[in-house]
Amino acid sequence: MKNIKHIFFDLDDTLWDFESNSSLVLSDLFIKYNLKNFLNTNLDNFHSTYKIVNAELWQAYGSKKITKEYLRNNRFNLSFNNFGYDNYDLNIKVTEDYLKLSPLGKTLVPNALDVLNYLKHNYELHIITNGFKEVQEIKLNNCDIKHFFKTIIISEEHQLSKPDIKIFELAENLAKAKKEECVMIGDNFESDIMGAINAGWQAIWLTYENERKDLISINNLLDLRSLL
Ligand SMILES: [Mg+2]
Repeated sequence: MKNIKHIFFDLDDTLWDFESNSSLVLSDLFIKYNLKNFLNTNLDNFHSTYKIVNAELWQAYGSKKITKEYLRNNRFNLSFNNFGYDNYDLNIKVTEDYLKLSPLGKTLVPNALDVLNYLKHNYELHIITNGFKEVQEIKLNNCDIKHFFKTIIISEEHQLSKPDIKIFELAENLAKAKKEECVMIGDNFESDIMGAINAGWQAIWLTYENERKDLISINNLLDLRSLL
């Protein structure tokens, strides 16, 4: 990769291990609220259903079909509904605990710290994350990586989400960067990779499946050392 001066990272599941941190909290809440009995299922089924429901809601939120409040206040009940159970009030209790506890997780994606320490010497580092301001800021502060980044763009603060080209243009302006100097690193094909490419940036896809040979991909953050 030539001419790169600015590296923009996605946060969830690119640097901050959303999957691990979230799984731990969901497993605690599954027990605390006795969901096994209410839903008549096990943790794995509940977790995989929740992930699908949550991803669909985030997509709808990204295309402005639903509000943040709707997403936040319905995702557990919609997950419950998949198991034939409806309880809005319990859903709100689970939601409040989940939002309070999950950003406190400190697990980073393997080698995240090493690679940030390696890259910080030669590049300006930034974050573009789709998420809620109060949640994403707790994650960044709590796992002590905030100091690496010159600019941090949280979608909610700007009413723009990846893959909207406008959020990449905003990022260029805030970083005082030119398109050709920017690379986006992320795990989400649509939001991070296609978003960045459509904005005229380069992109590096963190993926464990590598379905697209025409794109630059890595399956471990340490591989960035040979690309950048
Ligand atoms: Mg991500």
